[in-house]
Formats: sequence, C-alpha cells, structure tokens
Amino acid sequence: MSEIDLKSYIRDVPDFPKPGILFRDITPLLANPHVFNEAIDQMAAHYEGKKIDAIVAAEARGFIFAAPLALRLNCGFVPVRKPGKLPFDTHSFHYELEYGSDTLEIHIDGVQPGQNVLMVDDLLATGGTMKACCNLVEKIGATVVGCCFLINLKALEGEQRIAPFESFSLIEY
Ligand code: IMP
Repeated sequence: MSEIDLKSYIRDVPDFPKPGILFRDITPLLANPHVFNEAIDQMAAHYEGKKIDAIVAAEARGFIFAAPLALRLNCGFVPVRKPGKLPFDTHSFHYELEYGSDTLEIHIDGVQPGQNVLMVDDLLATGGTMKACCNLVEKIGATVVGCCFLINLKALEGEQRIAPFESFSLIEY
C-alpha cells in the first residue's frame, strides 16, 4: 500500500475561473514525478487484467493521464479534440451542457467497432463532458469498459449522470 496521500498534492484555488468556484488544481501532483507515477500506477492497477484496446480522452487535461496510462496498459491512446484541431477526417459530436452546448471531434479511424475502450479525464464534475464522450464511443460501435478520473467532485453527482458506465476515481471531495 502506498504511503503517498494524493489529495495533499491537489491545490484548492478559490474563485477560479469565476467568483464562487473552488478550483481543484492538479499541477502540484503533476510536478512531482513520484506522486504522478503513483497516480498512474493506481489507475493501471484498477484495470489490470481487463481487455482494453484503446484509451480515449478529451483535451486538454485528460491527455495528461491518458497517455501514460495507455503505455502502462499497453494499448493505444485516441484524442478527442475541439473542432478543427484534428488533421484527418473526423466524427463530430455536439452535446448539451448545463450552460450552453459544445462540440468535440474524434478521428474516424481512432476507435473501431467492437473495441473495448477506457475513458479518462482529470476530473469528474457534472459528468457532461464524459457522458458525451461515452455516447460517441458507443455510437461508433465500441464498448466503454469504464471511466477513470483522478478526481471526483461527488456532490455534483457526475457518477449518476455517467451511469450505467462505471466510474473510478483516486481522489474524492
Ligand atoms: P464536467 O463535464 O462538468 O464533469 O466537467 C469536467 C471537466 O471540467 C473536466 O474536463 C475538467 O478538466 C474540468 N474541470 C471542472 N472543474 C474543475 C476543477 O476544479 N479542476 C480542474 N478541472 C476542472
């Protein structure tokens, strides 16, 4: 069992990006290679033995955890990006959020029908972003095997929103 308290490496920043928001800043954790490595180890341990063909993550902070986790799990990493950023042909998906809507894109050959896909992001808040990414992956004909986060802001009930897809997180508030 690890001695590292991951939560102690998350910095609380009040009133960012707007007054009243308490931002959970992951950069102190990322800055420490032992702590960052421990976080990736714990994520990898949770999915060990599961058949995973690809990891999908949305820009930008999801990439930070998805890439090293993909190497650890010996599978590919497939980026989901804002419109116009990916160079090849894409599937584009539009989704509604609490305040407005957004569009994300994935390469048409990024995920194949029948593949088992693990979804990754740094933080689960309302679950809007993750739910949209899961729906896209399933629409392509692949299977979402789980959603992995460093942090889950439990009070916002993102887990319930993402269900029936399984959520796993290392730190809860
Ligand atoms: P959701 O779609 O409401 O679950 O929001 C999750 C997204 O917002 C993630 O991609 C996070 O990167 C970002 N996010 C929301 N709140 C925070 C925070 O306090 N710290 C870091 N990222 C956040």
